[in-house]
Amino acid sequence: MNPVETHNSLGQLGEFGLIERIRRQVTNSNSVTVGIGDDCAATTLEPGHLLLTSKDLLIEDVHFRRDWTNMYHLGRKSAAVNLSDIAAMGGQANHLFLGVGLAKDLSETELDQFTSGFLDEINAAGATLCGGDTCRSPHSLLISVTVHGSIAAEHLLCRNGAHQDDDIYVSGTIGDSALALVQLQRGETPSGHFAQRHHCPTPRLALGQALAQGLLATAMIDVSDGIFSDLGHILEQSQLGAQLFQEQIPLSAAAKKHLADNPQDTDTARRGGEDYELLFCAPTHHRDRIDQLAIELQLPLTRIGCCVAADQGMSLIDATGQQQQIQATGFNHFR
Ligand code: ADP
Ligand code: MG
Repeated sequence: MNPVETHNSLGQLGEFGLIERIRRQVTNSNSVTVGIGDDCAATTLEPGHLLLTSKDLLIEDVHFRRDWTNMYHLGRKSAAVNLSDIAAMGGQANHLFLGVGLAKDLSETELDQFTSGFLDEINAAGATLCGGDTCRSPHSLLISVTVHGSIAAEHLLCRNGAHQDDDIYVSGTIGDSALALVQLQRGETPSGHFAQRHHCPTPRLALGQALAQGLLATAMIDVSDGIFSDLGHILEQSQLGAQLFQEQIPLSAAAKKHLADNPQDTDTARRGGEDYELLFCAPTHHRDRIDQLAIELQLPLTRIGCCVAADQGMSLIDATGQQQQIQATGFNHFR
């Protein structure tokens, strides 16, 4: 990037200047025969692998606010939420496609920051930006990301494979991102940890791949809408119910401290979305191997419950042993 260009407006660069500016920052990989610059990308897939495809749309003032985040983090998050879907199937992320509707008031520096965040995130995953589309948007910033990943057919992990009596696990901690969001909504500045988790989530690709390749899990999903809501999808597709232990839901030290002072946020933390952790089911005889994996990856894997018959629905057992039925609700755009 030439620093003397950074004061140009996006309008001066034009569509092809913008694309060229993005292309120059991309490192190509062996699996990309044709990358940015032709009518289509041409990429290769390893023999015996399935192509995984996922798309995510991020709309200003629906998914993010430009005054709440910075463009570098927005770039990272736009990639991370998409990569997280590949993680949730146990796959390797390979090729990404980035569509942007650029708001008029966006500067060249902001576009560079966005691109740099996006590329840092996908480079960390070993993936390559192979194409996209660039348009002007009259008011708000629109981002549409498609990822192509791959997985050996025999390792594919779907939502429908859980069995009765399987354990239910979640990685990392839950609720930090939602706590950042409520603080932002109240006009407060979220603490560093909550802000980091909200603006810059980590896709759990290594975990997803280890669970899939080790044939350890039976069903998996990434936590985007909240653990109850996302577990609800596994239960529905696997035709099961679940019992969850409230005290086992893993909260960060920062979240525990925050909830001690703000108990009214407890439900928000437990139900909160956008943690991008992995929620998975596994047969009980894999407990030791899963504990071992947590040590290897230095990522907590917490057993939060077990799968039961569908007619029992989803229930939460609190510290006193009291059981309450819970609804599989989380964030829903159309509610
Ligand atoms: P077309 O007219 O065929 O849609 P474009 O002129 O839009 O082609 O795009 C030219 C090339 O630049 C294509 O390879 C396209 O995939 C790539 N491209 C366009 N926008 C982006 C973007 N935001 N990020 C990455 N690649 C892009
Ligand atoms: Mg185009």
